[in-house]
Amino acid sequence: MTSVQDRILNAVDRLFDDQVQFLEKLVRFKSLRNEEAAAQDFIAGALKERGFEISRLPTDASRIGIHPAFSPATVDYSDSWNVVGRKVSTGGGRSLAFNSHVDVVPAGSGHRWTSPPFEPRREGDWLYGRGAGDMKAGLVASIFALDAIAEAGLSLSGDVQIQSVVEEEITGNGAATLFAEGFTADVIVSPEPTDEQLVRANAGVIKFRLETRGRPAHPRDPESGQSAIDLMVRLIGHLRVLEQRWIAEREDKRWFKDLANPVALTIGTISGGDWIASIPSDCVAEGRIGFYPGEDPKVRAAEVEAFVARLQLEDPAFAGGNLVSLSWVGVMHAGYTLAEGTLAEDTLRAVHAVTHAGAALDAYVMACYLDAAVFSVHGNIPSLVYGPVSENIHGIDERVSLSSLKRVTKTLALFAADWCGTRDV
Ligand SMILES: [Zn+2]
Repeated sequence: MTSVQDRILNAVDRLFDDQVQFLEKLVRFKSLRNEEAAAQDFIAGALKERGFEISRLPTDASRIGIHPAFSPATVDYSDSWNVVGRKVSTGGGRSLAFNSHVDVVPAGSGHRWTSPPFEPRREGDWLYGRGAGDMKAGLVASIFALDAIAEAGLSLSGDVQIQSVVEEEITGNGAATLFAEGFTADVIVSPEPTDEQLVRANAGVIKFRLETRGRPAHPRDPESGQSAIDLMVRLIGHLRVLEQRWIAEREDKRWFKDLANPVALTIGTISGGDWIASIPSDCVAEGRIGFYPGEDPKVRAAEVEAFVARLQLEDPAFAGGNLVSLSWVGVMHAGYTLAEGTLAEDTLRAVHAVTHAGAALDAYVMACYLDAAVFSVHGNIPSLVYGPVSENIHGIDERVSLSSLKRVTKTLALFAADWCGTRDV
C-alpha cells in the first residue's frame, strides 16, 4: 500500500458515520418511478455543496425510437430528470464517471416487512430499506469515495462525474439521456449491489405487455363466454415454451452456459376481470425476458411477436382472431460482455486486492438489465459494475451490509485515485 492509499483509506474510515447517515436520508426518499424529483434535489444539493458543477437533464422522450439507447416508455417524463455532478481537472489524467440509479422498485408487500420499507433501520451490520442495496448505497459510496480523496488532501488529475439517473428499473432512458448528451468518460463505474464482485456480462432485456380479450358472460351460460383470464394463463403457458428454447441457446454462450435460467421470462404484473361472478372480458399482464449479449433486441422482440402470432393460429383456444395484443413497454436493450484484460479491470483488481487483504476479484454474470450496458454497447466504454453485499433486492426486507459498503467505498476511492491520478492540494 502506498502512503497516498493509506491517507485515502483513513479518510473513508473517518467519514463513514456521515456516509451512513447520508444513505439513511436518501433511503427515506420514496423514489419510485416518476417520483424521484425530491431525491434528485437532495443529490444535486449535496453535490453542489461539494463544489461539483451540476447538470439537471430531463429524461428525453424525443429520442425514443430514434436513438438506439432509448426504450419505449409509457409515462410522461415532465417531472423526470437526471443529475450529473462534474469536476473538471486540468491535470491531464484519465476521466471517470460513477453511474448510479436513484429510482427504486415498489416495496412489494410493505406490511410484510419487519419495519416500514422507506424508514431506514440499522441492525448490526445491516441497513434495511427499499433501495438501500439497489442501489442507493452505491450512489452514496461514489460520493463519499470522492469526499475521502478531498479529505485526504488530494485532488484528482482527471475529470470525474457523479451520475444519478432515473428509469433504470424500467426503461434505461435516464442513462440513455446522459449518454446521448455526451456525459461519458474513459471508464464507467456503476456500484450496483454485486457482492463485491465484478460483472463480466449482463443480459439483454425486452419488456412487454400482453392483453387478452375474452367474451364476457353470465356464469349461468358459460359456453356463451370466453374468459380473458383463462386465455392469459394459457398464453403464459405457451410463452414458457419460448423461454425454454431461449434457455437452451445458452450452451454455446461462454459466460451463460452454467446459469440455470439466463433468460428468466418473468410475469411481473397481471390484472383482469371486473366482477366476481362474470366471465372476464379483459386481462393485462406485463413482463420481461432476457437474451444474450451481442444480440439485437429488435430481432428478439420480433421473435416474440412471431411466436405469439403463430400460437394464435395453432391453438384452437385462440381461434376467432384478435384475442391477443402484444406491445413493448419498457427496456429494449442489448446486453454486454466486459472485455477481459482492460486497464480499467486491471486497475480495479489491483485496488480490490488492497481492500480485501490480497484476495482476487471474482467476476460473474448478472443476467438482468444494467445501465452500464448503455455506455458499453453504444459507447464501447469499459463499464465496471461493482458494489456492496446486499440481500433481498426487489424483495422483502432489502438490506445492505455496512462493512461491505465501507470496503466498497474504499475500493472506489482507490480506483478513482489510481485511474485519474492524484495531486496534493
Ligand atoms: Zn439496480
